[in-house]
Amino acid sequence: MYDVKGHLKQVLGQLPEGVRLVAISKYHPNEYIESAYDEGQRIFGESHEQELRGKHETLPKDICWHFIGHLQTNKVKYIAPYVAMIEAVDSLKLLREIDKQASRFERVIDVLLELHIAEEETKYGLTPDALRSLLAGGEWRTLNHVRICGLMMMASNVDDEDQIRQEFRQARQLFDEVKDLYFADADYFCERSWGMSHDYQIAIEEGSTMVRIGTSIFGPRVY
Ligand SMILES: *Cc1c(COP(=O)(O)O)cnc(C)c1O
Repeated sequence: MYDVKGHLKQVLGQLPEGVRLVAISKYHPNEYIESAYDEGQRIFGESHEQELRGKHETLPKDICWHFIGHLQTNKVKYIAPYVAMIEAVDSLKLLREIDKQASRFERVIDVLLELHIAEEETKYGLTPDALRSLLAGGEWRTLNHVRICGLMMMASNVDDEDQIRQEFRQARQLFDEVKDLYFADADYFCERSWGMSHDYQIAIEEGSTMVRIGTSIFGPRVY
């Protein structure tokens, strides 16, 4: 079996204090997750509702599952009872649905707003202006069953380190902007989820608090 424990230790050894690891386990089998769990890892990220459902049912209940993929509103009800954080909220419609389902289960669900900065057209997320207008709209304040804990973003999938760094910086500036405007008194608004296997060192230098790493821990995914 792939040396998950060795790779996990290597990654953890590179994370400074204050940066948490979300181990991205999508497409990897339960045994891989159990290896990481044995080493003390508790936060795992998945991007498909059905796959997550199967894993949640069979793996230890103290795992904190982060949903990191694009979430369709009709799938929210399935993960609402147990998900620890929904990282990629990119519309008010989705935020409303999470609030509605969380309230059915008498929960408050932590979420991040997904920012779209990368140049790729295909990526999801709110543009800087869409993020500003969602927050300026104010309806989110009435949604008492969601707690907006910060921002999430994916940098462009390119080799150009300067470009990646610039995108992380832009995300950091937006974080500071909305923190000042809307969340200055909210200690829980503190998460900057950026950095994946190929760019997490840069992300950490640019102020990430949460890295989402799959390949560097579990090896290549087999789709
Ligand atoms: C798959 C995925 C990751 C992890 O990517 P790796 O390159 O395997 O580290 C991180 N974030 C999101 C949103 C993903 O979908």
